[in-house]
Amino acid sequence: MPRQKKISKKSIRKIKAAKPEKEELLLQSPRGMRDILPADQIYWQQVRRVSEKAAADFGYRRIDVPLVEFTNIFSRSIGEGTDIIDKEMYSFSTKGGEKVSLRPEFTAGIARAYIQHGMHVSPKPVKLYYTGPCYRYDRPQEGRFREFFQFGCEALGEQDPVIDAQMIQMGWRVIYQLGIKNVRVNVNSIGCPSCRKSYRNLLIHYFESKKQKLCIDCKRRLETNPLRILDCKEDKCVQVRASAPQSIDHLCEECRTHFKELLEYLEELEIPFELDSNLVRGLDYYTKTVFEFMSVSESGEEKRKNALGGGGRYDGLVKMLGGENTPAVGFSLGLDRLAAEMKKLGARIYKEPKPRVFLAQLGVFAKKKSLKMFEGLERSGIRVAESFGRGSLKSQLKVADRLGVEITLILGQKEAIDQTVIVKDMASGNQEIIDAGKVIDEIKRRLKK
Ligand code: AMP
Repeated sequence: MPRQKKISKKSIRKIKAAKPEKEELLLQSPRGMRDILPADQIYWQQVRRVSEKAAADFGYRRIDVPLVEFTNIFSRSIGEGTDIIDKEMYSFSTKGGEKVSLRPEFTAGIARAYIQHGMHVSPKPVKLYYTGPCYRYDRPQEGRFREFFQFGCEALGEQDPVIDAQMIQMGWRVIYQLGIKNVRVNVNSIGCPSCRKSYRNLLIHYFESKKQKLCIDCKRRLETNPLRILDCKEDKCVQVRASAPQSIDHLCEECRTHFKELLEYLEELEIPFELDSNLVRGLDYYTKTVFEFMSVSESGEEKRKNALGGGGRYDGLVKMLGGENTPAVGFSLGLDRLAAEMKKLGARIYKEPKPRVFLAQLGVFAKKKSLKMFEGLERSGIRVAESFGRGSLKSQLKVADRLGVEITLILGQKEAIDQTVIVKDMASGNQEIIDAGKVIDEIKRRLKK
């Protein structure tokens, strides 16, 4: 047996002192999350602008809720047995031992805020809108991210189906105004807890007899959330559910009237809709109306299985979280999918007006003066560009040329000391020295011409 070499005390000290190996630095965003770069922001800005304007036009006021809530706010409202709660939540314990989660959607947090701030005393309905990121640990694929963005509206405290119709009208209008013209609304009613109970039993009875033909997930759903079997995408489940009982055939009188009135409103609004008996939206808090906005081809076929948005009524949620009985309805749109669809369709986008003036400077003293002059011009509503980082006047003028501005202001060392500025008309090339104090009036006069 070979003799083992003895390690000296000195070597041991050296090993102990050695720094642990550094973890590899991965220069990429986490899976399912991405950077939205400036080139794509034009679509995003348009989506935000149009959606927030629609919300304001319909009398909705903005609410921001935290990105993080106590986990049971979500699990209680969205419901155990749903994919979101069982598989997709980003949950963790804080240093203080609180169990929290990143929001997978907004409605639960908004219902919590409604109760916490006693909004039930406000005139009804309380109309709120939101926009921001949500997180779901789902398998990333086209149109499905782990970090995605939603815009949505909630109306709390009103049970009239006219509000359901208004929600659909708003969502549809936003999508349409973004240039996505081929949109269809799929609607269904899943009833209230009392009529759903007997419908649920019917479904269980039906699927129980066909259990062997269901996918593994649906076999589990049969125990936890049988309604979810209706929107399973697996071929064999699609076949099995084709002759399953439909919820609209089993609504109680009140739910049936509510749904009938909603459809009448939609007809009046001339919004293209289709009854979709398999639409259940999977979350426990929904009652009565559920709907989704689908992008369709010219011939009316669904282009992708991914919805652009969806929503529904959730009459029991506020009470379930400990508040008063509060009928409510809401919808949310997926901004990622709207922006992607706009890009794909080559939708017309709003472009920021181009700058009409360029401010060039030369020398340290002039640069100091330019900062102030830039602010003065901006404040008086003149769109002005600069490239303060560039040294030579030639390179600055090149930028001005590329931007196609009408006027370039040049501030050199001499002008800075004399408190003047050179005004160069870019079309004619003519230059004139004017008093720096009069620059705003002079530019306004020239731009008006
Ligand atoms: P939901 O309430 O889950 O139907 O979500 C409402 C809308 O948010 C959907 O119609 C999508 O447009 C969008 N959305 C939901 N989940 C994702 C995701 N993982 N990635 C991108 N968009 C999503």
